[in-house]
Amino acid sequence: MTTLAEQLKAFEGQQVGAPMVGPDEVNKPMIRHWCDAIGDDLAVYHDEEAAAASVHGGVIAPPTMLQAWVMFGFRRRLPEGPNRQGELMALLDQHGFTGVVATDCEQEYAREVRPGDRLTMTSVIESVSDEKRTALGPGHFLTSRMTYTDQDGELVGTQRWRILKFKPGQPPESQQTAARPPRPRPSLTADNAWWFDALRRHELRIQRCTACGTLRHPPRPVCDRCGSFEWDSVVADGRGSVFSFVVNHYPQVPAFDYPLPIGLIELHEGTRLVADLVGVEPAAIRIGLPVVVEFVDHDPELTLPAFRPVEP
Ligand code: ZN
Repeated sequence: MTTLAEQLKAFEGQQVGAPMVGPDEVNKPMIRHWCDAIGDDLAVYHDEEAAAASVHGGVIAPPTMLQAWVMFGFRRRLPEGPNRQGELMALLDQHGFTGVVATDCEQEYAREVRPGDRLTMTSVIESVSDEKRTALGPGHFLTSRMTYTDQDGELVGTQRWRILKFKPGQPPESQQTAARPPRPRPSLTADNAWWFDALRRHELRIQRCTACGTLRHPPRPVCDRCGSFEWDSVVADGRGSVFSFVVNHYPQVPAFDYPLPIGLIELHEGTRLVADLVGVEPAAIRIGLPVVVEFVDHDPELTLPAFRPVEP
């Protein structure tokens, strides 16, 4: 009779299953759709002439498409044969670790991927952690490592992918009894602290390039349009509309109320920002809904903008 810990450790180093071969060669239509979807206009991904004149000598695929080339769609099946990752997930499910949340992903690129390449992905279960106490409940972190090779077996990139399999509804006792924790802090840097400082004065500011006048958000050191490092900021008038939104139900993190509506707000000045939506039922939120900013003092150190529908 082996313990769960021993059974979990036995998965480490095991190949998940048969290698997965990309259903299509790397191709320009998929590159174009990807770039359209995320708004990437870099010429080397779509402009034959510019790409030919570049150091790449021709069109290349965005490196972050790595995983896309071998993904199986809704109707494609996994390769035949055993699937060790599936067995590992089922084992954890049986022991009550039924929740799953992705925690992080790292990609490394060995070379550019080009139209005509045909990628194959091999996945190995790299590690299964001991049981950890997390804010979501007790759980195990599963790390897998995918290796992507081309039609000649040459390495093009790797991806390390980590998930947490946890027992839902069992946050640590300290969290059940403690007072509500403060809202998580933003990651402050020399480039963005001024923006949060302005919020504490109840000003919603937008960074502006002083060389070409282009507004940008989130705050960053360089103008995307002209490359200038010179900037100032303007105060937004606080009006905008819902460009997109989600209503977050799960996983639930202390310090937030659920359901939690979060909007991608397009300000009247043209930049967008992510913020809480307040004063509105989730079912009443729609794209294009006119909203206006209000400032929420979460605690003495942290003020954040939220957006409320404009009264008709
Ligand atoms: Zn500029």
